[in-house]
Amino acid sequence: MIPRSFLTLSTAIGALAILWSCAKQTTSTNSTEQTLYPVSHSKTKPQASYSSLKQLYREVNVQRDYIPKGVHGRKEKRKLRPMFITIHSTQNFAQGADAWRHSLALKNGKLRAHKSKRGNRIGYLTWHFSVDESVVVQHLPTDEQGEHADFDGPGNNFSLAIEMCEHKGNDLLATIERTAKLTAYLMHKHDIALDKVVPHYHWPRVGLKTPHKNCPHFLLDNGRPGRKWQIFLRMVNKHYQSVGQQSPSVV
Ligand SMILES: [Zn+2]
Repeated sequence: MIPRSFLTLSTAIGALAILWSCAKQTTSTNSTEQTLYPVSHSKTKPQASYSSLKQLYREVNVQRDYIPKGVHGRKEKRKLRPMFITIHSTQNFAQGADAWRHSLALKNGKLRAHKSKRGNRIGYLTWHFSVDESVVVQHLPTDEQGEHADFDGPGNNFSLAIEMCEHKGNDLLATIERTAKLTAYLMHKHDIALDKVVPHYHWPRVGLKTPHKNCPHFLLDNGRPGRKWQIFLRMVNKHYQSVGQQSPSVV
């Protein structure tokens, strides 16, 4: 017998794949969209039972590669008590723009932003985790604020930030699933409820013409949280609920 939890997760991933495949038919022929909507399950291996939080963490495959202290986006330490998890996507479609490549750019201070009183506070973009099909690279400790969402707003002040990679050749569904697992792990670790898992869209950027960013664009419907976002939350919740459960034996 196949465990029920496996089926549910598998169904959620399948539903996302179908939604994307429909979007592909009805949206423009933009070449990035073509790459973003492949219906592939090849590298997606849904598993939804973890004997411990440690086991989930191991499966997520987090590699620490911090921005050096005292430079670039870590010039000042800004304390964070994580109360939310904010999900982004890089919108960097360049070949090889994987999690390690983003880590290198962050460490070398390449991701500059215009510093201003009501805008970016430090002159750099920073976030906590980059995820691709095979790895999560961590750039900041979880007790330090990043600069990724809404300037001096609650998104930056109170949330952990996850960026999903979407470069050419990357398996997007596998990336989303790894992100769902990482999110579930962080929820347990920092006692964060599912309704505090939000897309970047959630945090208005006060003063901008489009305050609500269409991010992560491939998990939003017409630029807003809708069906795809709900499916993602279901995936997260499935992993969250499965920690501490034993896999039902195969009969
Ligand atoms: Zn974003």
